[in-house]
Amino acid sequence: MLSTLSKKLCNDNMPKLSGNIYAIGRNYAAHAAELNNELPKEPLVFLMSPSSLREWEEGATAFQGETFHHEIELVLLVGEHSPCGSVPRLSSLTGITLGLDLTRREVQTQLKAKGHPWTTAKNFQGSAFVGTFHSLDSSIWETGITFSLDVNGETKQSGDSRLMLFPPKTILTHLLGYQDLYPGDLIFTGTPAGVGPVRHGDELVARSRELGIQLKGQV
Ligand code: ZN
Repeated sequence: MLSTLSKKLCNDNMPKLSGNIYAIGRNYAAHAAELNNELPKEPLVFLMSPSSLREWEEGATAFQGETFHHEIELVLLVGEHSPCGSVPRLSSLTGITLGLDLTRREVQTQLKAKGHPWTTAKNFQGSAFVGTFHSLDSSIWETGITFSLDVNGETKQSGDSRLMLFPPKTILTHLLGYQDLYPGDLIFTGTPAGVGPVRHGDELVARSRELGIQLKGQV
C-alpha cells in the first residue's frame, strides 16, 4: 500500500516545508467510544498550524470566555528528514513530550454534523500546548509509556502508549505514504478516554513516570 501511494503522490521536486503539526484522531478505542465515534481503519490525521503552538508555562490562551476540552497526548518530535515513500524508522523520532490538543468541542460537534472540516475547533492560538521535549530512545515503545492529566487536583485522563490503535511506526508509515517528514515536525498521537471541560484558570498537571515528565500549567 505504501509503494502504491508513493508512486502516485511522492514527487522530489516539491518545496520543502517543516514545522508541520500532525495530529491523530481516535487513536485509543475507549476515547473513540466516549464520543460515539467509529474506530478508524487507518490513522485519522488532521493538521494544526505552527501558530497554534504554546509552551506549557506560557500562561492563558486567548479565549478566556470559552470552555475547551482537554486532550492529553504523547507528542513526538521528528528529528531527521524522511523522504516521501521511504521506509519508516522509529529512530527518526528523536524527541517526546506531553501535550494538550485543546479542543472547542461544541464547535467541532457542529462542524462534524455539517460534514465540514473541523480546523477552527482544533487550530487556534494556544491549541497545541506542549512541554519541553526529552530525547527519545525507540526501545521505550516495547515497555510502553504511561501518562496522565490532572485538572484542579483530580486525575481525569490516564493513557498507555501500548493501547494506541496505530502505534508510532504505523503513523510514520501512513504519513510517509504521501509526504516527506522534516526535522521540527510534530506528531500529536491521540488522546485516551476521559476528555472533559476546562476553563480559563483551571490548574493542569501532566505526568509521565517513564518519561520523567511533570508539567504544571493553566488553561
Ligand atoms: Zn487530539
